Amino acid sequence: MSIGPSDFGGLSCARRPFKVKFSVARLFGPEFVGIGIDQQLSFAGDLGARYPAGVRMKAHVSKIAHGVHVEGAVAGREHETCARCLEPFERDVRVEVEETYSEDVPESDAIFGDVAPLIGRAIDLTELATQILEVDEPIAPVCDEACNGLCDSCGQNRNIGSCTCAEHVVDPRLAGLARSLQERRES
Ligand SMILES: [Zn+2]
Ligand SMILES: [Zn+2]
Repeated sequence: MSIGPSDFGGLSCARRPFKVKFSVARLFGPEFVGIGIDQQLSFAGDLGARYPAGVRMKAHVSKIAHGVHVEGAVAGREHETCARCLEPFERDVRVEVEETYSEDVPESDAIFGDVAPLIGRAIDLTELATQILEVDEPIAPVCDEACNGLCDSCGQNRNIGSCTCAEHVVDPRLAGLARSLQERRES
């Protein structure tokens, strides 16, 4: 295995996404009823490409019987590709977070039910944010509701300028002229 330049230096290490686990053990003692979370999170893979600067989670964790309840939001700058004009664009995203964790839920039941298992009295904030942001992903994101998209014939970006094939279609006078020329030729 060869070692590349990215294996050295602090910058590449700092930028590498890592899982942030947040301990809620304090809430199981008598002195705390709630803890605030204010945490920057980064991701690998598709979500890392959508949020290259990561997201910030701000939430409040409160104690419930045998578990905790998390309520807040994640916010970040999302990079997308417009489904109509295929141009890259950015948008501010803010998604509500609400999750309940219980020590009564076995780890094997993690994918069932509304309550997540609380394992080791810690919450995996990266995993929580990942689930929320993957659900939030729009099926067809658009750079602007008024985006004109691409011409079906020549591929021209119609936000930048019109093409000649578009004019043939939209101008009824030209369509009428073309028809009468065609008829004259046929007669
Ligand atoms: Zn667009
Ligand atoms: Zn065109």
